[in-house]
Amino acid sequence: MTRTVYVNGEYLPETEAKVSIFDRGFLMADGVYEVTSVLGGKLIDFDGHAVRLQRSLDELEMRSPISKDDLLEVHRELVRANGIEEGMIYLQITRGAPDDRDFVFPDPDTTPSTIVLFTQNKPGLAASPAAQEGIKVISIEDVRWGRRDIKTVQLLYPSMGKMMAKKAGVDDAWLVEDGFVTEGTSNNAYIVKGNKIITRALSNDILHGITRAAVLRFAQEAQMEVEERNFTIEEAMQADEAFITSASTFVMPVVEIDGAQLGDGTPGRVAPRLRELYLEESMKTAI
Ligand code: PLP
Repeated sequence: MTRTVYVNGEYLPETEAKVSIFDRGFLMADGVYEVTSVLGGKLIDFDGHAVRLQRSLDELEMRSPISKDDLLEVHRELVRANGIEEGMIYLQITRGAPDDRDFVFPDPDTTPSTIVLFTQNKPGLAASPAAQEGIKVISIEDVRWGRRDIKTVQLLYPSMGKMMAKKAGVDDAWLVEDGFVTEGTSNNAYIVKGNKIITRALSNDILHGITRAAVLRFAQEAQMEVEERNFTIEEAMQADEAFITSASTFVMPVVEIDGAQLGDGTPGRVAPRLRELYLEESMKTAI
């Protein structure tokens, strides 16, 4: 099926959507993005994603080409036009397409930002079989740049990390810097010891996950203990449970780290409960 996508103010069939070869997103990865999930035809955590998008733009001194209200309208129209019940909406804003390649930022008055949105249809996203079985991860060195709190489209190393995982016969990789886990290639990382959920504190070292914020809030409301601190791969291998969070995986149990099985190698008690809680609670505020 040909998707309807959104490019710079227009809804178009995906086959007719075009962006300039001089676009700075294409030439320099000078762009930011967001991924919002759709469940029951509604947007999950839209507000959180819109706020983080604005923060990413501000940090890079990039102008937004669209208001928050209009952005919501575009998301909704794409969900409607493409008949999305479960899936994702990808949004990207770049610093636009000046007349030529230049390291210096173009004048935003003469070079407007580029905005692109498209849908990804994923029936069965919430009832994913991977969530029943859990996923396996390896650890790799974190060699990304120092502003991982900005959600930029520079995704080559995360992509390489996924390939290293694939070659190792597992599902994903956790990134390690100075001996401590930062996060997953495209998700935040957690371990569980006893009744305590342990995850790295927010800083420029990791992306401030929208799912992370919601899950930690729901966990605390459910009287679970949360500790925001660094942890090593060795500590993770000794944990009772581990899991990841992201807009597209929600809460996903991790059952093996660097070949070491956690517990009995099946998802424990906490991660599946948090997944249930997250899906239940976030549906209540879906728009
Ligand atoms: N960390 C990284 C590096 C990511 O790329 C992502 C999502 O793409 C996340 C964490 C999770 O963020 P969110 O829950 O907002 O999807």
